[in-house]
Amino acid sequence: MSWDIKNLKNWKVGDHPPGALIPTGGNAVEYKTGGWRSEKPRWIEEKCTHCMICWVFCPDTSIEVKESKMLGIDYDHCKGCGICAAECPSDAIEMEEEEK
Ligand code: SF4
Ligand code: SF4
Repeated sequence: MSWDIKNLKNWKVGDHPPGALIPTGGNAVEYKTGGWRSEKPRWIEEKCTHCMICWVFCPDTSIEVKESKMLGIDYDHCKGCGICAAECPSDAIEMEEEEK
């Protein structure tokens, strides 16, 4: 769905369409929400103990895991909130500015 915003400056209260619609549940996988990010987590593999705390806390299910081992970060969906870096007990995730 797209909106015709050519006359946006002339819109009045009540003219605005509803925003942030989620028409069906569980559809986040269809959208690359990582495009919203201004900072990104950088995983430092050699410091990682695979405790999975970041996986528990990540609100976007963006910690990639296989057979109880962390594999990396799904940058297509990570929104850069920084929770994983804040919670990692081994300082194995650092936040850095997103590339332009
Ligand atoms: S919280 Fe830190 S140490 Fe634990 S799995 Fe994540 S990156 Fe590795
Ligand atoms: S920055 Fe936020 S969204 Fe991205 S992997 Fe870490 S906890 Fe998940």
